[in-house]
Amino acid sequence: MSAVLEKSVGEPEAELTDGFHLVIDALKLNGIKTIYGVPGIPITDLGRLAQAAGMRVISFRHEQNAGNAAAIAGFLTKSPGVCLTVSAPGFLNGLIALANATTNCFPMILISGSSEREIVDLQQGDYEEMDQLAVAKTLCKGAFRVLHAADIGIGVARAIRAAVSGRPGGVYLDLPAKLFGQVMEAEAGRRSLVKVIDPAPAQIPAPTAVERALDVLRGAKRPLIILGKGAAYAQADNDIRALVEKSGIPYVPMSMAKGLLPDTHPQSAAAARSTVLADSDVVMMIGARLNWLLSHGKGKQWGPPGSKKFIQIDIEPREMDSNVEIAAPLVGDIGSCVAALLRGMGDDWKQPPTEWTEAIRNKKDANIARMASRLGKNSIPMDYHSALRVLRDVIKERPDAILVNEGANTLDQARGVIDMYQPRKRLDVGTWGIMGIGMGFAIAAAIETGKPVLAIEGDSAFGFSGMEVETICRYNLPVCIVVFNNDGIYRGTDVNLSGGADAATTGFVKGARYDRMIEGFGGVGVNATTPDELKRAVDAAMDSGKPTLINAVIDPAAGSESGNIGNLNPKSALTKKGGA
Ligand code: ADP
Ligand code: MG
Repeated sequence: MSAVLEKSVGEPEAELTDGFHLVIDALKLNGIKTIYGVPGIPITDLGRLAQAAGMRVISFRHEQNAGNAAAIAGFLTKSPGVCLTVSAPGFLNGLIALANATTNCFPMILISGSSEREIVDLQQGDYEEMDQLAVAKTLCKGAFRVLHAADIGIGVARAIRAAVSGRPGGVYLDLPAKLFGQVMEAEAGRRSLVKVIDPAPAQIPAPTAVERALDVLRGAKRPLIILGKGAAYAQADNDIRALVEKSGIPYVPMSMAKGLLPDTHPQSAAAARSTVLADSDVVMMIGARLNWLLSHGKGKQWGPPGSKKFIQIDIEPREMDSNVEIAAPLVGDIGSCVAALLRGMGDDWKQPPTEWTEAIRNKKDANIARMASRLGKNSIPMDYHSALRVLRDVIKERPDAILVNEGANTLDQARGVIDMYQPRKRLDVGTWGIMGIGMGFAIAAAIETGKPVLAIEGDSAFGFSGMEVETICRYNLPVCIVVFNNDGIYRGTDVNLSGGADAATTGFVKGARYDRMIEGFGGVGVNATTPDELKRAVDAAMDSGKPTLINAVIDPAAGSESGNIGNLNPKSALTKKGGA
C-alpha cells in the first residue's frame, strides 16, 4: 500500500461546496438578504437553498413583478435588489423590469438560469434555448456570465459594483444550469468569494465646479431648485433640506422626490409649477434629468429662449448638455455636491429677492384655494377628487406609510393632490411612465421597510400585476390596494365606433368587483361607493395591516384621455365627431 493512499485513508474527506452554495454565500457575504423571483428550471433549488440559508426568498406569480420589486428595493436601500428567474421566457419577463430599472437609475441585479452553452451556441434547440447574455446587453448597464464555480465570487462582485457605482442601474448575471452542480473544495470556494469594499465610492466634485455653480446662483434674480429622484436615492436628506432652506430658493420636487422636504414646506413651489418653470432665470437640478418629464428644458413651458441658465448636479458626466446647455455642470454624488455647496455658501448668503418669492406665494395660494374647492365636494358617485381627498388625509395622518401609485388620471391627480411628508415614500411609474409596477413595488416596499403600504391603482394599471394579490396574502403583507374603478382605460364610457357588439377597445367589464379577487386568497375585500366608505375601509386596512383591496367605484365618465399627457397620444384628424 502506498504512503499517499494510506494518508488519504487516514484523513477526513475534504469538505465540498457547489455552485448553488457559492452563489448564496457570495450574495450573503455582500449583505444581500432578500431574493425576489419565480422558481423553476434550473433555479428551483437555488431558491430553496437560499431560504434554508436564512435569506428571505419572495416567490412571485410573474417575473416582471419580481423584477420591479427588486428594482424598487434597490431604490429604497441603495443596495442592489436581486431578481431570480428561470431561462428564456422567465428571463424575458424579468428583462422589462431590468430595462426599467436601468432607465430609472435603480440598482438591480437580474440573475437568470440559462441552458447549456454548447447547445445554445450551436443553436441545436435546447430546452428554453436563448442567448440571454446577448439579449440583455443592450438593455442594462452591465451583463456578465459565469461558467466556472470558482468565478462565482468575482461574477457577483462585478454585478454589485456595476449596479451601484456611478449612475446606478440594472445588471444581468447569466448562470448556466451546469454551473450550479459544479463541485469544488469548500475552502477554495470560500477563498474565491469577494466582499466588495466601498461599492459606490463617493465622487467628490471639483472645487472649481462648485465655485462656478455658486457664482451662477449668486447672480440669479429668480432662482429655482428642481429636486429629482436621484436626490431621493442619494439619502442625503438633511443636507438637501439644509441647502434648500439656507439658500431660500423655491423648489419643485419631481414625482418621486416629493417628501424630501414636506410638500407643505413654505418654499415648495409645486403648486406654482408652470409659473416658476417659465419665469425663473437660474434653475438648479439636483438629481433630475431634463427629459420629457421636464419638456427637455425648452419650449413654451420654459419661457422665452435664452431666458435661463442651468446648474445641474449629477453623478453622470454625460448627462450634462444632453438637452440644453448647462452653464454650471456639477459632477459628483449628490451628498458630496450638496455638502460642498453648503460649505461654499458661507454665512453671508443672500436670500432671493422677495419680489420673486412673493410672486410665487401669490400664485401658489390662488392655485391651492382653487384645488381646495374641488377637493371639498363630496361627489357621489365618486370622482377622482372626492376619492383622492380621502387618501390625502390618510397619508397626512400616517406620514411614514409608503404610497405606490400608477394609472393615467389616477396617477396625475394623486401626484398633485396627495402631499408627502417624508423622503422615499412615493413610488410611481418613473421615467418611462409605465404601467405594471404597482404590486411589485408595493410588495418590496413592505418587505424592505416594514411600513404600511397604500397602493393607489387605476383599474387598468392594476391589471398588469393584479395576480400578485395572492403573493401579498401569502406573505401577509401590510398592503392596502385601492383600485380606482371607472370601468376602463381613461374612462369607462367609450363606445365601439363600428356599432358592433364588442366592447370598446378601452372599456372593461362594467361594475367589476376587484375586491372579490383578494377575498379568494383570504384577504379583506371592500366595495366603496362613497368617500366615507372609502375612508373607513382604508383606515381599517392601514391600522390592521391586513392585506386589503378596496374597489373604489369612480364615475365612469370621470377621467380624461391619457391623463395629463394626452398631447403625446396621436389622434386621427379623420375621426368623426362624437367618436372616441
Ligand atoms: P426625475 O425623474 O425625478 O427627474 P431622473 O431619474 O430623471 O429623476 O434623474 C435622476 C438623476 O439622478 C440621474 O441623472 C442620475 O444619474 C442621478 N443620480 C442618481 N443617483 C445619484 C447620486 N447618488 N448622486 C448624483 N446623481 C445621482
Ligand atoms: Mg380607469
